[in-house]
Amino acid sequence: MSDRVLINADLKFVEGVMKAGGEDLNKCYQCSTCTVVCPLTPEGAPFPRKEMIAAQWGIKDKLIKSMDPWLCFHCNDCSEQCPRGAKPGDVMAAIRNMIIANVAVPSFLGKLTQSAGGALGLLLFPIILIAAVIFMVNGGEMAFLDNPVIDFHKNMISQLAIEMIYIPALFFGIITGLLGVKNLIAGLSETYPKTDKGEALVPAIIGTVKDILSHKKFRECGVNQSRNIAHMFLFYAFIGLAITTAGVTGIYYINLFAGSNVVTPTPLPFFHPIKIIGNVSALAASIGILLIVYRRLTAENVGNTVAFDWIFIVNILLIVATGILAQTVRVAGSQASYFIYYCHLVLVFYLFMYMPHSKFGHMFYRTAALVYSRYSGREKSIGMTFLEGKQQEQLEESDKVA
Ligand code: SF4
Ligand code: SF4
Repeated sequence: MSDRVLINADLKFVEGVMKAGGEDLNKCYQCSTCTVVCPLTPEGAPFPRKEMIAAQWGIKDKLIKSMDPWLCFHCNDCSEQCPRGAKPGDVMAAIRNMIIANVAVPSFLGKLTQSAGGALGLLLFPIILIAAVIFMVNGGEMAFLDNPVIDFHKNMISQLAIEMIYIPALFFGIITGLLGVKNLIAGLSETYPKTDKGEALVPAIIGTVKDILSHKKFRECGVNQSRNIAHMFLFYAFIGLAITTAGVTGIYYINLFAGSNVVTPTPLPFFHPIKIIGNVSALAASIGILLIVYRRLTAENVGNTVAFDWIFIVNILLIVATGILAQTVRVAGSQASYFIYYCHLVLVFYLFMYMPHSKFGHMFYRTAALVYSRYSGREKSIGMTFLEGKQQEQLEESDKVA
């Protein structure tokens, strides 16, 4: 009797993990090959075998407070070697998606962004909002369509109107993201209290930022390492586009408050430094996102791509495409550029507002988890307890044997 263990299984969670990409979860027979081959697992308290059994058993409370899904970079070395085809890399990705759905604020947004239907429903909000603003600022008329000079901000929607829409959306995204991070860290700190193996907070942040900028973890991956290049293009493109947006906004306000044309007004000439950064970033984003789509459609070891992934990928792809197309069609003198620009505005709003609820939320959650990993000392081996007493000892012992 003493060896019996009571598991508080959450079968809905098991179903959720399987729907979120871990559909082969139940094929796992606990051989531990995945844990042996994982290039990123810390010694002494490895993953992903224990997450496989915890997910099979539906130990939701522990899994959503686990650090290890965030230490996994979906390189799929484990899935490639798994003798049962249980795809542990995909299961870890599915657990991450489930964690986002559980820690996101407000929680209904974290759940809606997981499905194509939910995401389309959320898209209706910017579709209606931006159309209504364009309608209102033009006095209920679309006379700008007859103006031979095509200028989005002078004719269709002013810079001020754009800022009144986007600044609240951006703040909503950032604040709800930080609240989600607070929930995540609350769970992680319960599971992994700070130990003397941990770093102080500032070095932990600096170390994490360095790792992210250099893509160190991606480079340690084996079979799926080429994903590193696509991710790097997209990552630095985002930084460049953020600099461009800040630069253009800065120019607008300098000219507004210090007198018109103190600095070169927008639209900027082709060889203006901010324009160059913007164009190079747009090119890098195009290359990065096309590489990601190509690999997702053709590469065998890339793993499952579920709706949650595709929604983000398609959002970025369309933002890049409509951004480039709107400018090209405008220069060509076609009024169709207004509609393309409107689509661009809708898609960017979606990205900003639902940032922490979509796959983009990794930017918040993974960064926070990686910092906490260094801070708590998890990177140097502290594992988590899924079971009690003898059962936990047996679980840990089998990982050592493997
Ligand atoms: S390799 Fe990992 S996921 Fe595959 S059967 Fe063995 S323990 Fe399970
Ligand atoms: S996908 Fe890669 S990093 Fe993640 S558990 Fe498998 S081998 Fe480790």
